[in-house]
Amino acid sequence: MQIVKNSVVTIHYRMFDTEGKLLDETEEPIAYLHGGYDNILPLVEEALHGKSAGDSVEVVMAPEDAFGEYEAELVRVEEKSVFPQEVAVGMVFEADDPATGDVMFFRVTEIDGDKVVVDGNHPFAGMTVRFVAKVEGVRAANDEEIGHGHVHGEHGHHH
Ligand code: ZN
Repeated sequence: MQIVKNSVVTIHYRMFDTEGKLLDETEEPIAYLHGGYDNILPLVEEALHGKSAGDSVEVVMAPEDAFGEYEAELVRVEEKSVFPQEVAVGMVFEADDPATGDVMFFRVTEIDGDKVVVDGNHPFAGMTVRFVAKVEGVRAANDEEIGHGHVHGEHGHHH
């Protein structure tokens, strides 16, 4: 079957930067609910529309269509004393965004004496990415999945 609104689509993907370096790839396939549920990047969803199992798509996305522009104000310097003892470069911490109340993720990028530099940008922010996806399977979503706006079961949500 073809991918239409309210299809459950299972894909494998690989993502590259403009130099062809592999940024990310699926180990297990992921399943998403197709049709504007904000489960996947919109341009990828658009490219997959009408495709069937076995088809591949390739989408090149500018930062604003992928993981956002790099925002210098999301880089903050904090006191090391507010972090756990074992804080190290590469660790990710959650914090509430005081403006929106949303949970934000900050990556530790540098530790210098009693200061810790954290970066709230997505690791791929500011990057143009090439997203290559292969459709592994397509099925119709059930009413519960459509009601929830996401996929249940294998490769989907478990709750
Ligand atoms: Zn659900």
